[in-house]
Amino acid sequence: MKDTVFIESFEERVKNTIEKYRLIEAGERVAVACSGGKDSTAALYILDKLGYNPDAVIIDLEIGEYSGKNLENLRGFCAGKGIKLHAISIKDAVGHTIPFISAAMSREGFGPCHACGILKRWLLNKMAREMGFDKVATGHNLDDEAQNIFMNFVQGNLGFCAGLGPVSGHAEGGMFVERIKPLYFCPEEETRRYSQIIGFPVVYEPCPLSADTFRTFIKGELDNLEAAMPGAKRNMADNLVAMLPSLRGRYKQSGKMRKCRKCGEPSRSEVCRACELLGRWG
Ligand code: SF4
Ligand code: ZN
Repeated sequence: MKDTVFIESFEERVKNTIEKYRLIEAGERVAVACSGGKDSTAALYILDKLGYNPDAVIIDLEIGEYSGKNLENLRGFCAGKGIKLHAISIKDAVGHTIPFISAAMSREGFGPCHACGILKRWLLNKMAREMGFDKVATGHNLDDEAQNIFMNFVQGNLGFCAGLGPVSGHAEGGMFVERIKPLYFCPEEETRRYSQIIGFPVVYEPCPLSADTFRTFIKGELDNLEAAMPGAKRNMADNLVAMLPSLRGRYKQSGKMRKCRKCGEPSRSEVCRACELLGRWG
């Protein structure tokens, strides 16, 4: 497919996803959770191009040069497009960098992404709510979603699938700022091609701490499946979307949300996972 035709069809797919699943309603304030990578930059670029007037939010994880370069790239990109950028350092927010936290958690047998995922989600929700955003858009693509679905199935966590889909968070009694995934039906390879054609200033190398071996294994298995059965990932996402109403109906009662006693963020137990994690260092 020619580059110009590809760009048009990619953007049309994102536009259709936003409209079909009503990801953004008129007048809503949207923040794009940026990492400085190709996916979230593409989401930011397209939402801006479609006139949704998004702000960008980035949590500086302070993973050495990798984070520094991502932040610098995003600053330049946002300045060039006139997009407001909100940057917060994880160290300022919680007192420690991700490498410090990851090293400490590895002594308890956890991979680096475990703590990072919990803290990013926690901080992003807190920031978005405090800044008055109605929606937080992420750069999650079709491959990410297919991996999540597959992982939940093989680990026996069907209930976690209720939190997936193009829009999530609304089933939690309004305690989460809704998270939306405009690139939900865009395969990773296509997002990479889109990013390279437009020429986004992004780092394509993975995070140096990335060591989620189970996700990496699942990714490889899914890529093999897709090669043998083209459309397999899309079928998984389509089927998940079709099953969401019944999944949410079935699992909404398990573990009601309440406010964390320490930080006031949503939690299924008295103290949220972020506070429980951070409590290790006083
Ligand atoms: Fe954090 Fe893991 Fe992502 Fe690196 S790969 S940014 S450690 S979640
Ligand atoms: Zn808490």
